[in-house]
Amino acid sequence: MQVKQTCYSCSKIIAKRQRYCLHIELFAAPDMHIDKDDLLKDNKHEIRKIYEELKNADAKKLEEDVYVCYDLSLCKRCRDVFLQRIKCKEFI
Ligand SMILES: [Zn+2]
Repeated sequence: MQVKQTCYSCSKIIAKRQRYCLHIELFAAPDMHIDKDDLLKDNKHEIRKIYEELKNADAKKLEEDVYVCYDLSLCKRCRDVFLQRIKCKEFI
């Protein structure tokens, strides 16, 4: 017996063969350029400064600042709405 899936967006039970999988990864861009100015900085001071800023920070929040991932199931209606919003750049 198959478990009934509910839509992440509207919470309705998704009809048979109407489920859409949405995989979202959002992460900090890995582009990192080290230029002359970076090399001239007092890096020990910078590291100490970053450490002081982050030492009491919430670990989960820090993780989410760098990477989040969602695997969602959507019904056809919500999939259509989501797709339309993406096309119109209305998702932010
Ligand atoms: Zn839905």
